[in-house]
Amino acid sequence: MTIAVRVIRDERYLEHRPGSEHPESPKRLRSVYRMIEKDFPDADLYLEPDLATLEQLELVHAPSYVRQILDTSEREFTTLTPDTAVSAKSYLSAWLAVGGCLKGLEALMAGQCRACFCLARPPGHHALPDRASGFCIFNNLGVTARYALEQYGLKRILIVDWDIHHGNALQNLFYSESAVLYFSSHYMGWFPHTGDWDETGQGEGEGYTVNLPVFKELGDADMMHLYGELLVPVVQRYKPELILVAAGFDGHHRDPLGRTRLTESCFGWLTQLLVQLSDSVNAAPILLALEGGYDTHALAASVREVLKVLSHQGRRERIPTFKTERAAQLVEKVRRAHARYGIWTR
Ligand SMILES: [Zn+2]
Repeated sequence: MTIAVRVIRDERYLEHRPGSEHPESPKRLRSVYRMIEKDFPDADLYLEPDLATLEQLELVHAPSYVRQILDTSEREFTTLTPDTAVSAKSYLSAWLAVGGCLKGLEALMAGQCRACFCLARPPGHHALPDRASGFCIFNNLGVTARYALEQYGLKRILIVDWDIHHGNALQNLFYSESAVLYFSSHYMGWFPHTGDWDETGQGEGEGYTVNLPVFKELGDADMMHLYGELLVPVVQRYKPELILVAAGFDGHHRDPLGRTRLTESCFGWLTQLLVQLSDSVNAAPILLALEGGYDTHALAASVREVLKVLSHQGRRERIPTFKTERAAQLVEKVRRAHARYGIWTR
């Protein structure tokens, strides 16, 4: 199996400065960029983003909100919500974060690569149609999924969200649809406190939202047990044509906001699992977009593990098999909640 990967990067993603004390600092991405320059120096790996168009942004966002973000370019600093602020050029970073994901989608759909990692900021999975939230301005993957449905006529898109916070806004966007299956693992004790196991979708979308509210002690073994028992049947039965990943690394044990117990190795294994699953469903392309991850060293180390797998520099050994009792209990709960739909439980 070979998998060609492309990486989206751009110095303009560093222009978004939400304040010197803010955890979503340009230092995060600077640390990642320093790592890739050293460990992944091949220039052919990289693509530059284009700006998203107004029409693309408005697939998800209210025109008045898009206008509001554009207007912040006239001021040095604007507080949008208590947790989300922007500097004069943040609008550009935000525009390019969506554009980077769309650029990745285009490359994947043109068959130029099998996987793409958009190393952008600000993150997106909490951004609401008409409001910034949780450090997010535009819903990068929400726009991408909507665009993929409309432009490429896809019928089944899987979103895997392994950020330790629930991607409430991503879930909401597709809660009533079966064309996008949202699969998220997260700790509910933190913002935005949504994503319980019985939130499973509504109407046409019943059964197409799969939430794994994990426990605070979550370690690599728990995580791999959960994904092995739940993501595998979801992919095998749903057969996605495209896999989007809200790739947050704040579940790392060093993260100041996450504070669960994952290590960077876990993100490499998860990536390996995704690649194997993609192989099993007609080589569905994989697009990862950076979400959270607030310890600069842990973030760079975690992204390195993902890229090692995708670029084939990494380990080729089998993913270790893990079983834990507490993960088994959560698997049972989630399976029970979904049994009545039978979409992936049979
Ligand atoms: Zn997060």
